[in-house]
Amino acid sequence: MNLSGKSAIVTGSTSGIGLAVAEALAAQGSAVLLNGLESQADGDRMAAELAEKHGVKAVFSPADMQKPDEINAMVEQAARELGSVDILVNNAGIQYTANVEDFPPERWDAIIAVNLSSAFHAIHAAVPHMKRAGWGRIINTASAHGLVASVQKAAYVSAKHGIVGLTKVVALENADQGVTCNAICPGWVETPLIQKQIDKIAEEQGLSNEDAKVELVRHKQPSRQFVQPEQIGALAAFLCSDAASQITGASLPVDGGWTAQ
Ligand code: NAD
Repeated sequence: MNLSGKSAIVTGSTSGIGLAVAEALAAQGSAVLLNGLESQADGDRMAAELAEKHGVKAVFSPADMQKPDEINAMVEQAARELGSVDILVNNAGIQYTANVEDFPPERWDAIIAVNLSSAFHAIHAAVPHMKRAGWGRIINTASAHGLVASVQKAAYVSAKHGIVGLTKVVALENADQGVTCNAICPGWVETPLIQKQIDKIAEEQGLSNEDAKVELVRHKQPSRQFVQPEQIGALAAFLCSDAASQITGASLPVDGGWTAQ
């Protein structure tokens, strides 16, 4: 696999899964646009570190995935500063848990905006670049919750099921254009996103942080182990390879057996 000469946008890539995906693509030689809610100075520093580590070009965009104008500007920044938009990884995501009757409407709106609508806006802006080049890879970080549901996650499950549908439509529309679109559906991955859920279990059941982690994972994931962010990065890099050129419209679980049940 060699992605030198390619340029990738990875949204929500200053932490967790997105950072691991950015690392995996840069390790294959791709230039990378990092994105996240960090300050411009902190983001620029992270991009410089990534560039130095992998010998690739890297830039940072603080675009807020709740704002379509900023998403469009981010895609244009990648085209201008990296030279092309070949790979788009829609990964930024947020979470909130409550029963549906207690779910704050503003949290619903924010989760749909960041976890679903941002992917539409980024794809809308990026696809013309990919079609012109006759090559593109779109990867959406969905979730096991794009395939099955859990309680207290009305907005998250709706957004993730939505992104699985969006993935199929974009795959079909571009199937003969050299552009693939796939969703990765992770189970529990050890990242900062889930720390609040670990804290809640620790508090409610009087458990240590480590015991609360096992308690969180074991109910859903038969492997009883977390997925590691690097494992998602490796799959994303594979989906960008020539070997994966006929994988499109797929939603690929990486979940220790969760959705096989
Ligand atoms: P994380 O909290 O570690 O990272 C989230 C990233 O998104 C950060 O870089 C943050 O700055 C960025 N972000 C958040 N809101 C943003 C906004 N409005 N605009 C721009 N950037 C924003 O989370 P993670 O666990 O790495 O999750 C990444 C993706 O993976 C999400 O879509 C999440 O739903 C999905 N996912 C995570 C898990 C898990 O167990 N951690 C499981 C399945 C799917």
